[in-house]
Amino acid sequence: MKTQKELDERWKFQVASRPGGEGLLACFACGVCTAGCPVSEVEERFNPRRIIHQVLMGNREHVLRSKEIWMCIGCYTCTAHCPQDVEFTNLLKVLRTMAVEEGHVDKKWLKLIDEIDRRTQNLRRDLVEYLWNEETLQSREEFDSWYKEETGKLSWTRKVKDNAE
Ligand code: SF4
Ligand code: SF4
Repeated sequence: MKTQKELDERWKFQVASRPGGEGLLACFACGVCTAGCPVSEVEERFNPRRIIHQVLMGNREHVLRSKEIWMCIGCYTCTAHCPQDVEFTNLLKVLRTMAVEEGHVDKKWLKLIDEIDRRTQNLRRDLVEYLWNEETLQSREEFDSWYKEETGKLSWTRKVKDNAE
């Protein structure tokens, strides 16, 4: 557990002073952002409400070093539903910029994240294209089985296994 000394109490004001971070201090921890997030649905370690709480606490190093701030796919669902107009999607961009500025990730990492986003969209398009005329797949179980066969050990496959247990 961090001591008071290790926490940076001024950090939240620095985040809130950047374009995109302005809504931070209005968060009242309702959790609506997390409840509607498609990434939180498949990865419980990614929790927008918890990330905001850590920022408000001043847990700077922990947040900026974490891989969770790179998991968001930028769908803006949390931003659309937030009753306090916090704009978590944009807030996360501020955190990513700070992570680069403070040397927690290399600039090359940004390009890799862009590439991951592009490939994810390509994968989705390919799946829709492929399955559109695939009349043999009628149920979720058949789809799961087909997906496991085609993709091997991707984490999504692990999730399917977890659900089946
Ligand atoms: S929905 Fe908005 S107010 Fe509620 S926890 Fe998320 S950011 Fe905070
Ligand atoms: S923008 Fe990011 S954090 Fe917000 S709902 Fe979408 S994936 Fe989740």
